[in-house]
Amino acid sequence: MKILLNNIDLNEALFDNSNIGFVPTMGSLHDGHVSLIKKSLKLSNKTIVSIFVNPKQFNNKEDYKKYPRNIKKDLKILEKLKVDFVYLPKIKDIYKGKNKIKIKLNKQDKILCAKHRKGHFEGVIDVMTRLTKIVNPSKIFMGEKDLQQLLLVKRFVEKDFKSKIIYCKTIRDRNKLALSSRNMLLNKNSLNKAGKIAKSLIIFKKKLSNNKNLKDLIFIKKNELKKKYDIKIDYLELRNTENLKLTNKIKNAKIFIAYYINKVRLIDNF
Ligand code: AMP
Repeated sequence: MKILLNNIDLNEALFDNSNIGFVPTMGSLHDGHVSLIKKSLKLSNKTIVSIFVNPKQFNNKEDYKKYPRNIKKDLKILEKLKVDFVYLPKIKDIYKGKNKIKIKLNKQDKILCAKHRKGHFEGVIDVMTRLTKIVNPSKIFMGEKDLQQLLLVKRFVEKDFKSKIIYCKTIRDRNKLALSSRNMLLNKNSLNKAGKIAKSLIIFKKKLSNNKNLKDLIFIKKNELKKKYDIKIDYLELRNTENLKLTNKIKNAKIFIAYYINKVRLIDNF
């Protein structure tokens, strides 16, 4: 496994390689990341994993500072997986001397996390455009846990580059809680609660299939979760999985949730 600390290292290493699989991450790796990496190892000639906590996508400075970082452990995990390259850029490798990228979301895009975290996706699309330009991969592996992110990056990146976005399933723990680096910020009690919320939404979604008043049921569910688990919910909505439009039909739809538990913001979809 080669560790690439800057863009010169990266260009040297990737020169002459084709069918490169790219797994962009912010580190603090867990089995969700591992599943993306394994898929890339299977489908690509070479796999490169980046670890970069992108300051531009944090709409809150405290959140950026608090974001868990575990580089030593991450490198051990990547070594064990036999990843070909790990890219650990500095801020200047990504942002210095590069042209400003102007990203404008449509009005229809300003939903879910785009509505609640102002500037977040502009930051994500900006860094993903820059990373794609630098790495020039054939495939980029992304998690369905962050489906809104995946769909936006897919639209912007596939418009300008040949790289294809590959969807990867959400990996959950024993309690059905979606794995997330942010889970490390939760105590046992909150982790337990978050698992119960996930389980309850999985069951809820199954029951919705035969029902007609979906909007009302979701409204009731939102209030029930708020009260029962003492959480602040940014959104709980049923949306189409391809265009993210609000829907009243269960077909091709998922329930999207974002909520704060003990000041930690978690997102998921079912
Ligand atoms: P992050 O390090 O949180 O920016 O995530 C890097 C990539 O891993 C993104 O494409 C995420 O969607 C994906 N990811 C994060 N958590 C999971 C999970 N539990 N299952 C599958 N993919 C995930």
